[in-house]
Amino acid sequence: MDIDSGKMLVKLYAPAIGLFLMWVVVDLAMRSVAANPMTASVGHEAQRWVPLAIAVPIVLYAHASWRLFQWNTGREPGCRSCGGILREDLRRPYLRCLRCNRTEPL
Ligand SMILES: [Zn+2]
Repeated sequence: MDIDSGKMLVKLYAPAIGLFLMWVVVDLAMRSVAANPMTASVGHEAQRWVPLAIAVPIVLYAHASWRLFQWNTGREPGCRSCGGILREDLRRPYLRCLRCNRTEPL
């Protein structure tokens, strides 16, 4: 695997990894809030919902893995220049390559 393919995988899994790290921080914060006697009731209420929030990064991870599988088996069209995975640009009507960062029209 070359360096550009590694960057492509990091970009593909970045949303799931980022949300997982945010979940860890929120979970630790809610544990410390629950441990404080002044804020224990709020912390215990929030701690009930924090485990459900782990579902979001798990779904994003599964979606990224599914896209990687589809691309790897040739079921998803790749970039015309390098063959990398394409992702919709959120601000413009383009597909952006996660490997070479070039754009292609939709
Ligand atoms: Zn490309």
